Amino acid sequence: MATFDVDDRGIVVPCPTCGRKNRLAFGRLGESVRCGECKHELSPPASPIEMRSSADFDRLVAASSIPVVVDYWAPWCGPCRMVAPEIEKVAARNAGRLLVVKVNTDALTDIGERFGIRSIPTLAVFAGGREVARTAGARPANEIETFVANAAAQQERQPR
Ligand SMILES: [Zn+2]
Repeated sequence: MATFDVDDRGIVVPCPTCGRKNRLAFGRLGESVRCGECKHELSPPASPIEMRSSADFDRLVAASSIPVVVDYWAPWCGPCRMVAPEIEKVAARNAGRLLVVKVNTDALTDIGERFGIRSIPTLAVFAGGREVARTAGARPANEIETFVANAAAQQERQPR
């Protein structure tokens, strides 16, 4: 899994050409961004991003310009291991349109408590800074994509 650093304003990615670290601002995740050094176009994150702190998570879901798919998981959970490769496919196939993040509910216990996550794996979709859909249990990548598409469509019909 590729590693991304998240800071208080965005996702920090190294340029594949010159190695310079560039920040993809949360509020501009759907846009194409060029490296500040060599102007090479930077690819949007194409793999899940493991959240390291609940503050990072809160800032990301509040500010992200594209829907955020959250995979709540824990290391001891067998079905979560089945979901992991599926969620990686979703991230790869929807790079730039969706951001996929993983929340280890054993490490970031306060997130699970705040959102009332009672079983894992649970998948949730955040759009416009709030949770718009949630589903529990393991499922294949294409079903996850359908779930996310339905959630996003529902979000668009509802006034903010
Ligand atoms: Zn560069």
